[in-house]
Amino acid sequence: MTTSNTMNYQSLTELSLSGAALSREQAAAVLATPATHMDELLAATLQVREQHYGRRVKICVLLNAQSGICPEDCHYCSQSKISTAPVSKYKLLPEDTIVERAHEAAANGARRFCIVIAARGPRSKDIDHLSAAIGRIKQNKATQHLEICTSLGLMDLTQCQQLKAAGVDYVNHNLNTSESHYEKICSTHTYADRVDTLHNVQAAGLKTCSGGIVGMGETEEDILDLAFSLRELDIESIPINFLLTIPGTPLQSLAAIDPLHGLKVLCLMRLLNPTKEVRVAAGRETHLGSRQAQALCAANSLFVDGYLTTPGDASAAVKAWIEAAGFEVEV
Ligand code: SF4
Repeated sequence: MTTSNTMNYQSLTELSLSGAALSREQAAAVLATPATHMDELLAATLQVREQHYGRRVKICVLLNAQSGICPEDCHYCSQSKISTAPVSKYKLLPEDTIVERAHEAAANGARRFCIVIAARGPRSKDIDHLSAAIGRIKQNKATQHLEICTSLGLMDLTQCQQLKAAGVDYVNHNLNTSESHYEKICSTHTYADRVDTLHNVQAAGLKTCSGGIVGMGETEEDILDLAFSLRELDIESIPINFLLTIPGTPLQSLAAIDPLHGLKVLCLMRLLNPTKEVRVAAGRETHLGSRQAQALCAANSLFVDGYLTTPGDASAAVKAWIEAAGFEVEV
């Protein structure tokens, strides 16, 4: 058995670049990497990242297009029906506002604009409304280069096909955690419901964006399950969030994660999904702190200017540390 202490990290690079999956044992050893071997793991992961993405970092901007009125009970979420967090509550933003926010995102260097609504799923008129806004974004010279991602909840095939026709590039629907841990973080829909939506997204010819949230009381086995599920589902874009313990949510009292653990999860996602986009997402500022730049050894993409209901670092500051760390903002 290969243990973390005897791990040949270069062999993981070669395996990953060959396209073959790490074994479950090797993946577990990545998560068990001791602090004294972190530099080796990061260097091995960086080689895979550089092979497929060079030193480029894609900047993404989120828009919370409908906030705080979700009937679901995801325990991590400040917008759920069981959250008492004092978040803004509003229905779907006007078309003009969505288009304006896309222009702001483009002006701040975004390559992807992610439109999110707090909902179990979209209504027909929501899709029509968003389709009109997306059509305008795709037709305007200042914003047409943006990749458009929508995160609208559970969707059937017809809804996904409508989004494809509207010009949507990616649909986000996170698995969040393992199948076995899922019922501990949500009771109003199932892991299988989420997988069904991802299959509908793929069947409609859209690219999938799906990842997880680290720090929700899961075990390392849960993280391994999630990582292998994302590979098996052939997910194109993998955001890794670190739980923001928002007061008023059921998970508000969970402890912060060890920054090294966060980095190891990112490395595992890259090594298992070498050609896919790995995105360091919500919570990076809080949980990774001064190690955020090391996350770019694995991740080729990140978010700026805040998250759905919580602030984050502004684009100018993030661009500065990206470049100081020897990476380049993708244009
Ligand atoms: S479905 Fe989305 S918005 Fe609704 S509670 Fe879950 S994570 Fe929050």
